[in-house]
Amino acid sequence: MADPPATCPAAAEVTESRQEKVLFGKYELGRLLGCGASAKVYHARDVRSGHSVAVKCINKQRVVKGGLSPNVKREISIMRRLRHPHIVRLVEVLASRSKIYFVMEFAKGGELFSRVARGRFPEDRARLYFQQLISAVGYCHAHGVFHRDLKPENILLDENGDLKVSDFGLSAVADQIKHDGLLHTLCGTPAYVAPEILAKKGYDGAKVDVWSCGVILFVLNAGYLPFNDPNLMAMYKKIYLGEYRCPRWMSPELKRLLSLLLDVNPDTRITIDGILQDPWFRKGMDSTRWAAMSRFHHLPKPLAAEEKEERDLNAFDIISFSSGFDLSGLFEPTPRRERFVCGEPAETVLPRIEELARAEGLTPRREGEKGARLAIEGRHGHLIAAVEVHRFNEGLSMVEAEEGRDCLPACGQFWERKLRPALAALSPGGPSSRRQ
Ligand code: AMP
Repeated sequence: MADPPATCPAAAEVTESRQEKVLFGKYELGRLLGCGASAKVYHARDVRSGHSVAVKCINKQRVVKGGLSPNVKREISIMRRLRHPHIVRLVEVLASRSKIYFVMEFAKGGELFSRVARGRFPEDRARLYFQQLISAVGYCHAHGVFHRDLKPENILLDENGDLKVSDFGLSAVADQIKHDGLLHTLCGTPAYVAPEILAKKGYDGAKVDVWSCGVILFVLNAGYLPFNDPNLMAMYKKIYLGEYRCPRWMSPELKRLLSLLLDVNPDTRITIDGILQDPWFRKGMDSTRWAAMSRFHHLPKPLAAEEKEERDLNAFDIISFSSGFDLSGLFEPTPRRERFVCGEPAETVLPRIEELARAEGLTPRREGEKGARLAIEGRHGHLIAAVEVHRFNEGLSMVEAEEGRDCLPACGQFWERKLRPALAALSPGGPSSRRQ
């Protein structure tokens, strides 16, 4: 279970900064909802629509240090294509210089397991949640996405009390971060882990998810874990041997399904298709609902085809100057860009900047048809800065300056000490400018 908000390390990291309280002018950050292994999750309000969202804040540096940037990019591209009523929807991904923000659908009902903690569910209720869980898991498996870390804090409830699996596809990343010890290790319970993972063998993501679903189903009905022991090694042993005992109130049909789910041999463990056929699972489900669920699982459309239809999802514009479908700019340092309104005509601004560059031993080079762009290069031909001047009228121009992408110390120095002050000084009202 996730730590209560008060115990989350550095909980104020985001909220303490007034500037960051309204993320990119779009999401007003509110209370801390919880902490995961890799991030903190906040409630937020979409400023335009007023709707609630959950915002997960991930420290970029930690991800980069862990060599996990490609994983995060891959997982984002998977996540944004998953559309399922029982999977928390990823609305948008934003990035600043230091953080990545996952803007997600808000699950108002909180964690399912805080409900179980108050008392086990009757079989019918547990069945309903389990059906919703399998529907989500089956859908993801059909799309080649495996959770690998289904556990209490990832199972949430919405305002209608329906189940929502969160973090689908991201958990693999979070796990690796944990093993690298690069992120805060809130040592999660291994109680949901399949025996083949404990045996450190290669494992099949689908089988591992089915095992975890089995543990979850047991907990929903029993109100306690099937494999538990104060001694961790003893607990591992129980998992490895598949040693658990069902409480007397469980029906024989449920016991049977649990024995198929908690089969220590992944080769003989029941599959999602098998679960869909199981009598306990299907009980009370009319043929229309069952058919709808099976269709979800056998969704014929590959993800690539879906992508074409979902072009309107341009919420995925990554702020680091990369387009919605190109995540390449997510982890690279973002070059600074600024706009200045200058109280001088375009014709005199560029020569001034050329002069400034030459005085620093740099080489200014005119570009563009009308020579309105200036590339300022260092001794070895690195781009230190690029400046573009747009004419407003005879006495006014607009200058756009961008720091070199190599982000060498020389770029920063020239930018901070020379270029920026010079351009700000040209502004009609003094050194004021609009920062992007
Ligand atoms: P995670 O980092 O995904 O494990 O999230 C940590 C905690 O934040 C979870 O245990 C939930 O309590 C909360 N949380 C995560 N995502 C959401 C969401 N979409 N809506 C509401 N609460 C969430």
